[in-house]
Amino acid sequence: MELNSMYEDELRQFFEEKGEKAFRGSQLFTFFHDKKRCDLENSNLSAKSINIINSEDINKVEIFKIFDSKLDETKKFLFKLKDENLIEGVLMEYKHGYSQCISTQVGCRMGCDFCASTKSGLVRNLTAAEMLSEVYEIENKLDIKVSNFILMGSGEPLDNFSEVIRFIKLLHDEKGHNTSYRNITISTCGVADKIYELADTNIPINLAVSLHQTNDIDRSNLMPINRKFNLTELKKALEYYCNKTKNRITFEYTLIKNQNDGKKNIDELYNFAKHIKCHINLIPLNPIDEFDEKRPSKDEINEFKNLLEKKGFNVTIRRELGRDISASCGQLRRKIEVK
Ligand code: SF4
Repeated sequence: MELNSMYEDELRQFFEEKGEKAFRGSQLFTFFHDKKRCDLENSNLSAKSINIINSEDINKVEIFKIFDSKLDETKKFLFKLKDENLIEGVLMEYKHGYSQCISTQVGCRMGCDFCASTKSGLVRNLTAAEMLSEVYEIENKLDIKVSNFILMGSGEPLDNFSEVIRFIKLLHDEKGHNTSYRNITISTCGVADKIYELADTNIPINLAVSLHQTNDIDRSNLMPINRKFNLTELKKALEYYCNKTKNRITFEYTLIKNQNDGKKNIDELYNFAKHIKCHINLIPLNPIDEFDEKRPSKDEINEFKNLLEKKGFNVTIRRELGRDISASCGQLRRKIEVK
């Protein structure tokens, strides 16, 4: 395993097994995750400890390009991985601090119809070290501290379960980035079997589910995951998650004109979610070249929101950020690669 994907006790054991003192593992852990550095020659490790380490066992990403929105404070990053693959990250600035969108895979195999990340399928999973490096590279470059993380970049986080859990635990480690679990959100397209597993980890992060359709026929057309775990299966998994964690779910609902913005959708959504402790986040569709659909008008979006609120739901409309820099998942990487 990569050294900068390891927990502190694993690093201590690593050095012990190589005949070095265990505390060198703690030193290295702090260097990686508190100092956010990988240039071991500038660490306080002994020469003997450095010699034990094979530089191939350290993995990080590089910032390849930065795109600044002219409309707001959003920045989009393209990261280059050691194997030359590209992934994306988005940094948003809010009044309460910075929020970063993290990619968990190169590409994605979930096949959602509206998403640019999946158009070339899954290339590979990211390691915990690579996901952490997305955070550290931005923070080091801009001299900032990011306080909120949402795993909603390219990839389905629950399809890379063990590395994502490792990433979250390392990000939370008080000797490292020390991020509260409450400030981390996993966004899934609805991988129901992994939602049970996530609940059983007892890690108190937030869970967001991309719903986008309200009945099985239409959702299966839009999001192939629904053919494996239909809305009934998803509902069961979410009820289990809510009971176990006492947390509220966020439903992400992208509004697509004449596809999922009708009165029938309000009723179906109500039947699906009425017993789930939830919040609904409406997202006006951000058109991409590969998905030839439109968003409803502002009035139609507000009307949809009002009708849901009348049903008793807590509803918000997502503020649009970085619209001019292809801030939706996978759009930028694909533009660069397709060129
Ligand atoms: S929306 Fe998310 S889960 Fe669906 S294809 Fe895109 S990256 Fe994958």
